[in-house]
Amino acid sequence: MAFCDAIILGAGVNGLACARRLQQAGLSVLVLEAASEPGGGARVVEFHPGFRAPALAHATMGLDPRLARLVPVALHPPMVTIANGLRVVAGQAEGPDTVAWSRLHTRLTRFAHVLAPFRRMAALNPGGGNDRLALVRRGLALKLLGRGELRELMRLILINVHDVAEDELTDDRLRGLLAFDATLGAWAGPRSPNTLILYLDRLARGPFPLVPVGGMGALVAALSTGLSIRCNTRVARVLVEGERAVGVALDNGEEIRATRVISALNTRTTLQDLVGARHLDTGLYRRAGHIRMRGGAARLLLALRGLPDLDNPAARHVLAPSSRAVDSAFDPAKYGQVPQHPVLEFILPSVLDPALAPPGAHVLSATVQFAPHSPRDPDAARAQMLENTLKVLEVHIPGLRAEILHARMLIPSDIYTLYGLPDWHHGELAVEQMLFNRPLYGLHRHATPIEGLWLASAGCHPGGGIEGAAGWNAAEALLEARQ
Ligand SMILES: Cc1cc2nc3c(=O)[nH]c(=O)nc-3n(C[C@H](O)[C@H](O)[C@H](O)COP(=O)(O)OP(=O)(O)OC[C@H]3O[C@@H](n4cnc5c(N)ncnc54)[C@H](O)[C@@H]3O)c2cc1C
Repeated sequence: MAFCDAIILGAGVNGLACARRLQQAGLSVLVLEAASEPGGGARVVEFHPGFRAPALAHATMGLDPRLARLVPVALHPPMVTIANGLRVVAGQAEGPDTVAWSRLHTRLTRFAHVLAPFRRMAALNPGGGNDRLALVRRGLALKLLGRGELRELMRLILINVHDVAEDELTDDRLRGLLAFDATLGAWAGPRSPNTLILYLDRLARGPFPLVPVGGMGALVAALSTGLSIRCNTRVARVLVEGERAVGVALDNGEEIRATRVISALNTRTTLQDLVGARHLDTGLYRRAGHIRMRGGAARLLLALRGLPDLDNPAARHVLAPSSRAVDSAFDPAKYGQVPQHPVLEFILPSVLDPALAPPGAHVLSATVQFAPHSPRDPDAARAQMLENTLKVLEVHIPGLRAEILHARMLIPSDIYTLYGLPDWHHGELAVEQMLFNRPLYGLHRHATPIEGLWLASAGCHPGGGIEGAAGWNAAEALLEARQ
């Protein structure tokens, strides 16, 4: 007998967004989470006694507006970015390129606004069956750009971000910021093709990083409110009977039955490990193994004795002195090596949320690019990554090392072990893995060939980030199919 209408696997932001939408529509929902707390990438962890920080994601570019309407979360004012010493807030930047930056930002934001609504609907289906009214509206916005701007948009979608930085800006510090933000989380350097579209995608989510009042923990708590979530519950198998998903088996052997199973884990794990070859055609099983999930960002958390000497400790600091520097940091990582001069962003979450550290002490949270994702000697790579990152940080914060009580560096293989993200991502955001190719052609409407089994993680359209759009889109697809 069915225990509930839907079981959702994984209480990351997408699992939670999907659960909230389905619950709003009147379905009974149970969320199963392997970790001891919900939140996935946004979960807050204690990494040193008395010091806590978001496990992976330390800021959001904004929740999906549909989710934000259902779950309002108070946010601190938009974060100022200090990029290699320059103050930047969205389209306003200091320095000789003030006008050029503003012009470039306005144009790219306009393009991003045209693309943003496509994120909040099912991925387009080249075979038909799309929501025609929604398509006409979005098509009209594209048409209103005018022929010249539409041509420019098509050119920019295909171009690399380094060329745009060189063409449009003269100040290396802003070029570095643009290149860093475009490639953050990608397995691509600024000279890799199609990297400007990654920047447009970032802008489509929001113009600046945001931190919730009370930190990422408060956001996770708000999303989890009212949901039935079982933590410390690892799903080992999706139960399939007569080509239909009827529930799940846990790693302790317990079985839980439901009318539908929605996996907010990545597609490869869902299909290959939880469903298995026995229930899938060989083509799909093999294609699931080809989904690219690489990412090259490492994660550094520092427990500090006191507040570092910074002009603006509440800001996001980006240390990427030029687009060439970002590219030089990517090159060695491609070949399994650690870059001499990594590029990075860091924030001090304890400045906005003092409860994260003991009185007077602070947490520095950094995302560092690029780390090799399968080095021959992971221990040596991790140690080298930490050393090289601290060298970069010390130039910016003299005397930093003396303030460090504990340092925790995670390279991509650690991120896999601790957070179950194969190779780093649920699915790389790359042109060939967008829209109807995300996570795979044929699965882009969230349904799978196993009746009653749905996909909802960041591996689905429109992708990752602490946003919840993929989970919400999955819920909408499921509700539509129910009608
Ligand atoms: C180093 C790093 C830094 C990042 N920084 C940012 C950032 O600053 N801002 C931002 O917006 N995004 C950031 N991201 C991306 C963001 O973390 C992800 O896109 C987001 O977490 C995806 O959400 P999700 O719900 O799809 O998956 P996840 O957050 O990965 O959630 C999946 C959940 O499933 C659980 N799970 C796994 N296996 C099982 C199982 N068998 N049974 C039950 N539960 C299971 C996991 O424990 C996890 O809680 C970062 C990612 C990384 C790797």
